Amino acid sequence: MYCIKCGVKLEDTEKKCPLCGTVVYHPELTRAPAEPLYPAQKMPQYGSEKRAVSGILLLLFLIPMLLSCVSDLQPDGKLDWFGYVAGGLTVTYVIVFLPLWFQKPNPVVFLGIDFAAVALFLAYIDWQTQGGWFWGFGLPVTLGVAAVICTMVALLHYLRRGKLFVYGGAIMGFGVLVLIIEWLLSRTFQIPFVGWSFYPMVVVCLLGGCLIYLAIHRSAREALQRKLFF
Ligand SMILES: [Zn+2]
Repeated sequence: MYCIKCGVKLEDTEKKCPLCGTVVYHPELTRAPAEPLYPAQKMPQYGSEKRAVSGILLLLFLIPMLLSCVSDLQPDGKLDWFGYVAGGLTVTYVIVFLPLWFQKPNPVVFLGIDFAAVALFLAYIDWQTQGGWFWGFGLPVTLGVAAVICTMVALLHYLRRGKLFVYGGAIMGFGVLVLIIEWLLSRTFQIPFVGWSFYPMVVVCLLGGCLIYLAIHRSAREALQRKLFF
């Protein structure tokens, strides 16, 4: 047996190195139980409290669902307007309360889920009322808004820099979206295309352009910061 620190040869009975004083470890010898280095009990789980609140909110959410279902029940056992109430309540629940179930909800994932819920609800209304506007208008508008907002939130979430570029681009994206919405309105509902959407589009594109200009030119950004005290 040798000392682990200085390498000197040790007798089997030695508890300490005679040269450097390093304690010799004898695994075959039993030792008195010492104070453990970590607490025997687990640390309290803060997530469980949040779960309990989420559970109570789910119960509170199910009460209006059940009440409206019972009050809508027709004598022939069919439901009249309950589907709209249930859909609206579910979309609200998905947007407001669903992220509470998770410890660190990813905003990008939850926005995707939110827009999917809205699109499904619109599809249901269109199907129930035989509106015929979902595929031509409801879905493309939902997808367009979802694309701009999800891209913006994803870039803000994952990029550390360049926030002004992202805001500028998102504002311009909304400008283009307004134009697309006017075109879809004219196509789906046979409303004549007069081009009102060009005005908001020009305004927001100028605004977005200003933000991108500020993002590129550091001196302009600093001058504006000094002027506006932010
Ligand atoms: Zn030693």
